[in-house]
Amino acid sequence: MANIKTGGKPRHLSHSLRKVQVRTPGGSIVTHYKYKTHSKHICAICKTELAGKPRGRPVEIRRLSKSERIPERPFGGMLCSRDSRMILGYRARLKHGIIKQGDVPISLREFVLVK
Ligand SMILES: [Zn+2]
Repeated sequence: MANIKTGGKPRHLSHSLRKVQVRTPGGSIVTHYKYKTHSKHICAICKTELAGKPRGRPVEIRRLSKSERIPERPFGGMLCSRDSRMILGYRARLKHGIIKQGDVPISLREFVLVK
């Protein structure tokens, strides 16, 4: 069933799928509709790509087990391992009085000073 506006099918009116032009074996060019790719998960501090956070459509993520979705450690899925170790180091030094709250860089305080 052709659509007057798009010349395609009514379900292709929405932009939830991306269009890909594909050359078929017969030589003609047809439009395929594919799922959009999802952005990478990044560390909240250094913006590097997070390891252990799968990328995909929500339905694909939901099919995974909980431990497959997110690293099971403090700040898992939020900070990279290097930064989470740094934050935990700050917390420990703060707890034992080696440094004061003012010694923690302002950009890191939201992670360090959470009670
Ligand atoms: Zn990081």
